Amino acid sequence: MSDRFTAQRRALINRMQERGIRDLNVLRAFDLVPRHLFVPQAVGHRAYEDSPLPIGFGQTASQPSLQALYMQLLQIGRNDRVLEIGTGSGFQTAVLAQLADRVYSVERIRELSTRAREVLDGMRISNVAILVGDGTIGWSRYAPYDAILVAAGGPEVPQPLLDQLADGGRMLVPVGTRESQRLVLVHRRGDSFHYDDVAECTFVPLLGRFGWADERVGG
Ligand code: SAH
Repeated sequence: MSDRFTAQRRALINRMQERGIRDLNVLRAFDLVPRHLFVPQAVGHRAYEDSPLPIGFGQTASQPSLQALYMQLLQIGRNDRVLEIGTGSGFQTAVLAQLADRVYSVERIRELSTRAREVLDGMRISNVAILVGDGTIGWSRYAPYDAILVAAGGPEVPQPLLDQLADGGRMLVPVGTRESQRLVLVHRRGDSFHYDDVAECTFVPLLGRFGWADERVGG
C-alpha cells in the first residue's frame, strides 16, 4: 500500500530482512498494513521503528521484526484458520489477516478490542472475528485452528489451546515467569505434541483461568 509512511514502512521491511525474515508472504503482509493507524496517536511518529510500543492499559505491542519471525515460524498458509490470543492494538491481527483464510482474535480488555475492531473495519478487513474474553480457554466455537499465536506470557501452555489445535497445527506460546519467558513452538500430529524451545522473550502477562491470576480481582 502507499501513503505518507510508505518510505518508513519499506525501511522497516528491509530491517526485517536483515534480521532473517525470508518469507515473502510475511514481508508482503507487513507492507500491506499501516501500523501508524493501530498505535495510539502519541506514539504514532514511532510506528515504523522496529521497537515495541505502549498501546494503553499497561499493554505493549511487540517489536514488528519479532512478530514477523513468529509468523514465519508458524508457516501460515492461505487456507489456514488462525487463533490469536491478545488482540491488543489489532496490528498483528491485521497482518495475520493478510496471510490466512480467517483470523479469530480474543482480547480481555474491552476498550482495546473495540478500538482494534474500528481500525480493522476502517481498513475493510473482513476475515477477522474478534471476541472479548479470556483467551486462555481458547475460542471453541471455531476450533480446530491450523495456527495459534499467543501474544502474552503464562506459567504453562493452556490446555484448552492444545485441545483446539488442528492435526498438523502449530502454536507459538510464551511460557515462564511474569518477567521473562521462553517462546515455545508446539506441533501437533494426531494426539502427540512436539515442543521446541525457540527463544527467550518478554511478553506482558497472560491473565486468566489457565494463565496468571488477575491481581486487581480479590486482592
Ligand atoms: N499483538 C498485539 C499486542 C498484544 S499485547 C499488538 O500487536 O498490538 C498482549 C495482549 O494480550 C494485551 O492486550 C492483553 O490485554 C492481552 N491478554 C492478556 N491476557 C489475556 C487473556 N487471557 N485473554 C485475552 N487477551 C489477553
